[in-house]
Amino acid sequence: MIKSIFSKFKSQKPAQQKTEEISKPTKSANKGKKPVQQEAATSNKPNQNLGKHNKHNPNPHSQKNKNNNKNRRAKQQQNQPKWDISQFQVAPEEGKSRFHDLDLPEQLMHAIFDLGFEYCSPIQAQTLPQSLQGFDIIGKAQTGTGKTAAFLITIIDEILNSPITEERHLKDPRALILAPTRELALQIAKDAKALCKYTNIGVAALIGGEKYERQLKQLNENVVDIVVATPGRLIDFMTRDQIYIDQVEFLVLDEADRMLDMGFVPQLKRIVRATQKKEDRQTLLFSATFDHDIINLSRQWTFDAIHIEIEPENVATEQVEQKVYMVSRDEKFKVLMNILKAEDTKLSMIFVNRKDHTQKLYDQLRKAGVNVGILTGDINQARRSKTLEGFKAGKFDVLVATDVVGRGIHVDGVSHVINYNLPEDPEDYVHRIGRTGRADATGISISLACEYESFNIPNIEALLGKKMNCELPPDELLK
Ligand code: AMP
Repeated sequence: MIKSIFSKFKSQKPAQQKTEEISKPTKSANKGKKPVQQEAATSNKPNQNLGKHNKHNPNPHSQKNKNNNKNRRAKQQQNQPKWDISQFQVAPEEGKSRFHDLDLPEQLMHAIFDLGFEYCSPIQAQTLPQSLQGFDIIGKAQTGTGKTAAFLITIIDEILNSPITEERHLKDPRALILAPTRELALQIAKDAKALCKYTNIGVAALIGGEKYERQLKQLNENVVDIVVATPGRLIDFMTRDQIYIDQVEFLVLDEADRMLDMGFVPQLKRIVRATQKKEDRQTLLFSATFDHDIINLSRQWTFDAIHIEIEPENVATEQVEQKVYMVSRDEKFKVLMNILKAEDTKLSMIFVNRKDHTQKLYDQLRKAGVNVGILTGDINQARRSKTLEGFKAGKFDVLVATDVVGRGIHVDGVSHVINYNLPEDPEDYVHRIGRTGRADATGISISLACEYESFNIPNIEALLGKKMNCELPPDELLK
């Protein structure tokens, strides 16, 4: 069955093209089943160590515990001043995604509001539309990009939308998040608790360097839905049959590269093997770098994952030859067409400051027979993804885009970036030209600076820390 259909009937969301092709029994296939008793008969788990609170011999107090927790939280919630979504106003803005557009439960929106988030960070904007539909994600992103909230919101949304209605058992989490260090695991658990503030979702951290017994107590006393763990300590719990991860619906591997560097590969392999098949769980893997080993493991552990990459903020520009042509506004289109014909362009990205001008240029280029795609904030996510995939696959030679949409795009083999307008924000200039000259390749950026935009040059030069080479276009470009 289709993963996204299982998920939550979010079919009204911009559907990813892939959705149609995927037939993956989903995490939700287990929903409501929790074959706990049945599994005891078939499980390979050792029985001799089973305590009275294990899932095969359900804790007689588990429901009571759950109810106690619920009552306590319900009381806490009663004491909260009433909140509704009208208090969380965020104006739509071109190229920015709002949490409001993701159809998240109100409890979650309330927590996001309390955290002061307004718009999604780039990794959230790229991850959430896909991960909320149940897709696996492989994300290249550093700390500080907001990736934690991206995976936590995915998990919390699904847990709230698909509650398990029958009796739950202790030590049987629905989500497992693995992190390399205790600091990171604690930070994630803290963020999870903040996002779960208005829900009855239980969160626990199992980390090395702290008392085992205290952590065990958390698992014994409350139904815990989300476990954040460092690999070594989790293995301790697994070995002593103090946690069962075979029903985990979400597996998050955060900072996977660091976990590998720290020698956690054997533990990680063991942990991942103890969870459901990759087709039956949702796996979200984040790493700041992707070397050979990470690529291999990500392939083994994820199912038909969507790849997302967030650029580090400082883009190296040494690889890019930068030209600035001083042209009049009226000459721009002619010069552009001549560049596309004369220069050895393979894939070109053209940046335009305004979305209406982007559309106009796109229409002109199509009329002139250029094989071109367009990306602006006015275009819905599904079409944007399709256009981008088309550009990556070489279906278009040229892509016209506004900054906000073009920024996070990573396409190998872009030979030319053309600034049809010089951007007002010098940072945008750096981001734009960083679309070329990637991965040790060289690239060319050509800016068409007209009488209305040349005054942006000094600010860009200040940011670059060097003079730009401004010249009149050669005659052949003016014909
Ligand atoms: P992370 O990369 O997950 O460690 O997040 C870095 C910081 O960004 C954390 O302090 C988060 O609370 C914050 N953060 C995450 N998402 C957003 C957002 N959408 N808006 C503002 N701040 C955010």
